[in-house]
Amino acid sequence: MNVNQSAPPVPPFGQPQPIYPGYHQSSYGGQPGSTAPPIPYGAYNGPVPGYQQTPPQGMSRAPPSSGAPPASTAQAPCGQATYGQFGQGDVQNGPSSTVQMQRLPGSQPFGSSLAPVVSQPAVLQPYGPPPTSAQVTTQLAGMQISGAVAPAPPTSGLGYGPPTSLASASGSFPNSGLYGSYPQGQAPPIGQAQGYLGVQTPQRSAPSQASSFTPPASGGPRMPSVTGPLLPGQGFGGPPVSQPNHVSSPSPQALSPGTQMTGPPGPPPPMHSPQQPGYQLQQNGSFGPARGPQPNYGSPYPGAPTFGSQPGPPQPLPPKRLDPDAIPSPQLNELPPQQKTRHRIDPDAIPSPIQVIEDDRNNRGTEPFVTGVRGQVPPLVTTNFLVKDQGNASPRYIRCTSYNIPCTSDMAKQAQVPLAAVIKPLARLPPEEASPYVVDHGESGPLRCNRCKAYMCPFMQFIEGGRRFQCCFCSCINDVPPQYFQHLDHTGKRVDAYDRPELSLGSYEFLATVDYCKNNKFPSPPAFIFMIDVSYNAIRTGLVRLLCEELKSLLDFLPREGGAEESAIRVGFVTYNKVLHFYNVKSSLAQPQMMVVSDVADMFVPLLDGFLVNVNESRAVITSLLDQIPDMFADTRETETVFAPVIQAGMEALKAAECAGKLFLFHTSLPMAEAPGKLKNRDDRKLINTDKEKTLFQPQTGAYQTLAKECVAQGCCVDLFLFPNQYVDVATLSVVPQLTGGSVYKYACFQVENDQERFLSDLRRDVQKVVGFDAVMRVRTSTGIRAVDFFGAFYMSNTTDVELAGLDGDKTVTVEFKHDDRLNEESGALLQCALLYTSCAGQRRLRIHNLALNCCTQLADLYRNCETDTLINYMAKLAYRGVLNSPLKAVRDTLITQCAQILACYRKNCASPSSAGQLILPECMKLLPVYLNCVLKSDVLQPGAEVTTDDRAYVRQLVTSMDVAETNVFFYPRLLPLTKSPIESTTEPPAVRASEERLSNGDVYLLENGLNLFLWVGASVQQGVVQSLFSVSSFSQITSGLSVLPVLDNPLSKKVRDLIDSLRAQRSRYMKLIVVKQEDKLEMLFKNFLVEDKSLSGGASYVDFLCHMHKEIRQLLS
Ligand SMILES: [Zn+2]
Repeated sequence: MNVNQSAPPVPPFGQPQPIYPGYHQSSYGGQPGSTAPPIPYGAYNGPVPGYQQTPPQGMSRAPPSSGAPPASTAQAPCGQATYGQFGQGDVQNGPSSTVQMQRLPGSQPFGSSLAPVVSQPAVLQPYGPPPTSAQVTTQLAGMQISGAVAPAPPTSGLGYGPPTSLASASGSFPNSGLYGSYPQGQAPPIGQAQGYLGVQTPQRSAPSQASSFTPPASGGPRMPSVTGPLLPGQGFGGPPVSQPNHVSSPSPQALSPGTQMTGPPGPPPPMHSPQQPGYQLQQNGSFGPARGPQPNYGSPYPGAPTFGSQPGPPQPLPPKRLDPDAIPSPQLNELPPQQKTRHRIDPDAIPSPIQVIEDDRNNRGTEPFVTGVRGQVPPLVTTNFLVKDQGNASPRYIRCTSYNIPCTSDMAKQAQVPLAAVIKPLARLPPEEASPYVVDHGESGPLRCNRCKAYMCPFMQFIEGGRRFQCCFCSCINDVPPQYFQHLDHTGKRVDAYDRPELSLGSYEFLATVDYCKNNKFPSPPAFIFMIDVSYNAIRTGLVRLLCEELKSLLDFLPREGGAEESAIRVGFVTYNKVLHFYNVKSSLAQPQMMVVSDVADMFVPLLDGFLVNVNESRAVITSLLDQIPDMFADTRETETVFAPVIQAGMEALKAAECAGKLFLFHTSLPMAEAPGKLKNRDDRKLINTDKEKTLFQPQTGAYQTLAKECVAQGCCVDLFLFPNQYVDVATLSVVPQLTGGSVYKYACFQVENDQERFLSDLRRDVQKVVGFDAVMRVRTSTGIRAVDFFGAFYMSNTTDVELAGLDGDKTVTVEFKHDDRLNEESGALLQCALLYTSCAGQRRLRIHNLALNCCTQLADLYRNCETDTLINYMAKLAYRGVLNSPLKAVRDTLITQCAQILACYRKNCASPSSAGQLILPECMKLLPVYLNCVLKSDVLQPGAEVTTDDRAYVRQLVTSMDVAETNVFFYPRLLPLTKSPIESTTEPPAVRASEERLSNGDVYLLENGLNLFLWVGASVQQGVVQSLFSVSSFSQITSGLSVLPVLDNPLSKKVRDLIDSLRAQRSRYMKLIVVKQEDKLEMLFKNFLVEDKSLSGGASYVDFLCHMHKEIRQLLS
């Protein structure tokens, strides 16, 4: 480990740097000397310009900038009849028997004890400027659009029935790809015999993945790839026959490069014996075409990487892999007839996600992952492991697409492997792992490099007896302040290194000084404001009553600093329809007071004292208020709502209270009432597959970006709970949550009896989440690379600082890096992520994560240290952002081309010589095609006919801040057989591949993807199982669509319910259960998640996509 070695002399850090497209600044890293002007990172380096210019001024308002008409005067737009059913004049805000209310212009006090009227002249709000498009990057514009992909032929032979409606599932999300008419999407060829791809022998020859690789004396480095089926009876360690895991065309003659592999199914080439069960060894070690599913084929992927043919220094052997695919396969006689002949490639012979996951669990799940070594690839996100911090940030905080970065940009361009880190700065840790230590350096604050402002970390090099240190990021020599001085030991390490977290750990926190605070003032504790839609829809569904009842108890569980007796967070309440009602819940009041603001174009907060209160002090008044709200509005006929003024009001309230905080909005409908941010219904499914499809993802007005920017400046994070019965324009409504680090939850067609468990579970979790407020994140890098692009839920006003009004433990920020200089193998590359935030108790802190990566001059080293799950996370986010600006076909083609280039580069430069017809995948990326295909046919990129525009916008913004584990299961769902393993087994059953072929009609399965949860029941399942799980006597009596399993006192019922609970506990959102019966119409919904199969929306099957990818690679190589 040489991470502490000083970097060799490098050019001054402040040298001119290349400017990447879309990044008009190149001010990364600050200035070359301590006398330089302040760097843009104000929060770290003194006052933030933006903050200082707008000190909180109570009810001050921005100047008018647009001509929003007066409130409550305009008629509802045409074509929105459903919202006008109660008429414009029929406004009833539901005065109850105990309250009286009049509507007057402006605001008025309400209730018996009147507060002073605070009325303001109408001042127009700064709505209306064009979209700032801060988040709409030009990334896709610069992406290479690949050549045309062959249009997808019509699906056939699936045996699916004609489209029917599916009303009962509408509450679940996403209802995607159900009865898709075949879109005109340009999917890879589907459903055709894909030539005669064979599969190479599964053998591996000794040293493997971990073994160091020395390139041959001549020619480029070659790295054979790995794993493939083992012939039955063959053991490990036999003579190397070939590289396993290569799907190959058996002979060049059979399929010359460039040949369309889309011919009709035909007999295999003569060299393959059709009668031969299993695979026949080919001359080059590949196998002949599979003749269909081969359930008994035992071990397709035993292999470990076979770098063994290359001489190289010995390195640790990987743990022996278990018998792969020891997964119960369906019996042939259980399969529909057409499936027996559908594939010409055995699905068991292509890389299996299940196998890779199982192997990693077995190999790496037993030992803790110790972070002391630079460039170590961590275990997969699907593996349970403990982390020991020995100088690098835990993979729970940072995961990289590659842990070995090419030294030059030329190499990086050649490989096309994106260099990105998925960072989750406030990730929650398992109980066995300690939270980061908090370091207090007193008034002097954290020690930093004078030039680049990097924070003290284990990689800083102390010199001159400890009197100075050289920055590991920019090489600047800094003096050590006297109070920080310490002697060095004989190795040059400070003798107190292990006593100081910032010198020995990858992650730690500093207490921030007042210099890191807005207006040079320590922050107040944050506040939560609950803003409840009380329009007709919200009342009718029972939502308001349910929510108010829940809040009474939930307010006792606001986040608190460790050890604190009560939360420091204050709370406030607003209800609204087309006007807003503020509540005074001051502890000294006998009853809450309502104040109405109907001038929504000119939003202000009518009361300061008594709006934000301590829960314990005001408990009686709050309880009274929450009891009264449902009754007060019980008879409302008001169907119109406003939206932007509600956020504006919450933000103004926080501003007046001079604190950061979070708004919890509970909203039901498209905000069509006359007000800033008013929206119209612009849903148009005819735009799908046109160049205008991107507009469905774009906000329809720029008002929300402007509003979001104001929220960010105030540290006002917005969480949005949506309860729509129809289109609400999620693409627009989610702009503020997205840009403020908030979350969006969506409960379509909400009904209390069906959806309350899911909603309340999400709400409880959301309210109790630990959140960092008013945060700024910056990623520094050592010389040679720099952060150039960012993905996630945040706002950026410059090119380097990620501004987050709020950041919780579920949110990730993905950062892409590019070269701006040559990297050095010896010194490697360093990342430092610094997050400045206000804790839930109001403490200003800095959380630091450091990570050291290796650098390589051989492409093989890059390909050996990649992480496909993280690659997919990055590529999905890039594509999901791309849909804002580019036609979807172009986005899909770009993904396919990049994937082909990555794999072709490997094939050309790293793989051992082999037939051109072979598909050779790097071990670390052997799942790239299957996972990429899942991204390509996801609802955002290739929607099924039943997927709504709102669902697509919703998923799009969800994925933007998902971590690697979430994207992994979201794109490739987990499918767990429930009755195959012994009933007494306490471990989670091994998953099976997400394909219909893996379903046995005699079994029951759970499928989950982090958002959805299905229980699929085979038609031939034993009667005893049916009785045990559902308490009915036969399959036909099971209620399709059931969302709760009966609580029955038998081992199977308990086991399945425990498993469901366990799956839910693993995910950040509650997954509602849907019971699906085989051959039932709901099954179509379920089948959409069997992602290895051809999808009804035109998405290719895994096998077909792999063939297509192979073709693309061959075209690149020829
Ligand atoms: Zn520095």
